[in-house]
Amino acid sequence: ETEDALCGARAGLARASHLTVMGELAASIVHEINQPLSGIVSSVGASLRWLQADQPNIEEVRASLENIRNAGQRAAEIVRALRALAKQEPAVMVSVAIDDLIQDVLALAAVEIGKRRVRLTARLDAASPQVFANRTQLQQVVFNLIMNALDAMDNRETPRELVVTSSLRDRSVIVSVRDTGGGIPEPILGRIFDPFFTTKESGMGMGLSICRSAMEAHGGTLEVVATSEGGSTFMFTLPVIPAPGRSCVTAGAEW
Ligand code: ADP
Repeated sequence: ETEDALCGARAGLARASHLTVMGELAASIVHEINQPLSGIVSSVGASLRWLQADQPNIEEVRASLENIRNAGQRAAEIVRALRALAKQEPAVMVSVAIDDLIQDVLALAAVEIGKRRVRLTARLDAASPQVFANRTQLQQVVFNLIMNALDAMDNRETPRELVVTSSLRDRSVIVSVRDTGGGIPEPILGRIFDPFFTTKESGMGMGLSICRSAMEAHGGTLEVVATSEGGSTFMFTLPVIPAPGRSCVTAGAEW
């Protein structure tokens, strides 16, 4: 009976975690999409006024149409990103050997790491199956941190080094990703985890925000722990959960 109750509680937790991530995302997307829409409505109003004037000002109308096009493209971009996220499988939680997962991600990123002439050092000491996690989400988090690290080292003359480590401390697994990029300047340090905050020309600014929500939904944390002109270090932690006596499968959650 206790095991049944435990299974039920875990399934509930997994569902709640998934909802938290989706809920937070939905809220920020609604906010973000509202901006281009209001922009479109006010530009249309302005265009109509310019056209209705005794001497219609075509130049102003042209500028307003340009604004409308930009706002429309921005909204479409956000919808595209949302569609990609919505395709995610329901959260299936399994026991994950974190070091193997990191190795898999590093293998995926190997081509990119080579192409950008970055030297990789991996010190993986977290050992056997340790954490309960949604494998895809966890892979995405590691992948995202690595891609951000590579981006930070683009166009830099200093030695480009990527150091990925994992370890066990108390009842947590700790994973860190360090780069020798430009670091994160103090004025934006408090904003990098905000949805849609980006300093990249083609960035979406959703990566760190999604990664942090995903880690918190797993009962862990994601932080930037050091940053200087010499680079940045991101670190996430996940609680080690003792393996359950048996497994159970409930809608959307497998333990
Ligand atoms: P995006 O990569 O689309 O910009 P993220 O949410 O992943 O979105 O990152 C937000 C911002 O945080 C980046 O635009 C960048 O300014 C900063 N950032 C993230 N990782 C690093 C890093 N390793 N070094 C320096 N800046 C970083």
